[in-house]
Amino acid sequence: MDYEAFFRDRIADLHQEGRYRVFADLERHAGRFPHATHHTKAGPRQVVVWCSNDYLGMGQHPVVLQAMHEALDQCGAGAGGTRNISGTNHYHVLLEQELASLHNQEAGLLFNSGYTSNLATLGTLARLLPHCVVFSDAYNHNSIIVGIRDSGAEKQIFRHNDPSDLDRLLSLYPRDRAKLVVFESVYSMDGDIAPIREILDVAEKHGAMTYIDEVHAVGMYGPRGGGVTERDGCAHRLTVIEGTLAKAIGTQGGYITGSTALVDCVRSFAASFIFSSSLAPTVAAGALAAVRHLKVSPEIRDSHQERAATLKQKLRAAGLPVMPSISHIVPLFVGDARLCKRASDELLEHHGIYVQPINYPTVPRGTERLRLTPTPLHGDSEMAALVDALLDVWNRLGLPRQGA
Ligand SMILES: *Cc1c(COP(=O)(O)O)cnc(C)c1O
Repeated sequence: MDYEAFFRDRIADLHQEGRYRVFADLERHAGRFPHATHHTKAGPRQVVVWCSNDYLGMGQHPVVLQAMHEALDQCGAGAGGTRNISGTNHYHVLLEQELASLHNQEAGLLFNSGYTSNLATLGTLARLLPHCVVFSDAYNHNSIIVGIRDSGAEKQIFRHNDPSDLDRLLSLYPRDRAKLVVFESVYSMDGDIAPIREILDVAEKHGAMTYIDEVHAVGMYGPRGGGVTERDGCAHRLTVIEGTLAKAIGTQGGYITGSTALVDCVRSFAASFIFSSSLAPTVAAGALAAVRHLKVSPEIRDSHQERAATLKQKLRAAGLPVMPSISHIVPLFVGDARLCKRASDELLEHHGIYVQPINYPTVPRGTERLRLTPTPLHGDSEMAALVDALLDVWNRLGLPRQGA
């Protein structure tokens, strides 16, 4: 077989469909976010980043950087092993306790990414529980889907954010059967938020466990940044709350929180946790500083919400097709993969504005979009420049307007 030709053909298919991914080669500058240097074939150019998941700019916050510098000098670079074999650093232990307390849960467990935390935990829980049925929201993230698949458990998909459809599916099974309901709080591509209390009511009625992915809410919602479950006063009702340290916390890694026995089970049975070296102590120290800082900094969350609301209002006033979002995420409808990519290219080339096109399979075909993520560090002048640039590109490409 001509292996090389095979690989080239698969890539040609992606180009053909307009969804070949090109990574922007960025150099971020601490202290100047959202400004960055874009390295191109024609040389370096200055750009403003409008699609970062460093939602609060914590990736450059002085408190986080100082904690990381100190941990580097104190502990060195790497953790030196898996958690079981010499790789448990004191910062890991402190961070797990901090996260458990943030989410009103007994215990926490760190993973090398949010992706792995979903994969490992769902794969392990749904496999350990005898004859477990998993009920998964139709819009759940790939890491959740793959985790459930890995478990080998039976799966039912309920309509997105629809507690009555969940109720219908749960009713198909006897009460004593093991059940796990899996959903997210903030859905990152549409910016909608789950009716968490209604989902919990239904799950509790049927004796099901509940697992929530708060990746796009941790640090940003709730009085201490404990996510939407904290905001809605229901964190204690969830069996598992999962999150990432790589988005609003500004560093890297993922985690779960839950009861002592459940977390101990995942710690003891999840292969992707057991057989992987632990997070660098610097990273754990930085995340710990960020979580602690955000716990007592509601003004950052207020400013984040204000920036998102202001951007939505400015885009609507300009007649641009903002999709309905009730969170900090601001999706702009394009509806065509190739045009979406072109819009993104033109913004970057002509206006120094970087926003990555969001195409299938991340979102359904026909709903391609630009996904804007304003942070407290995006000022009024950057917003004005963004709106002008979008209007120019929308005119040039004849893209759909508001209400289209
Ligand atoms: C980004 C993301 C993850 C994975 O988190 P990482 O720390 O980036 O690996 C998990 N769930 C959702 C919903 C995400 O968007």
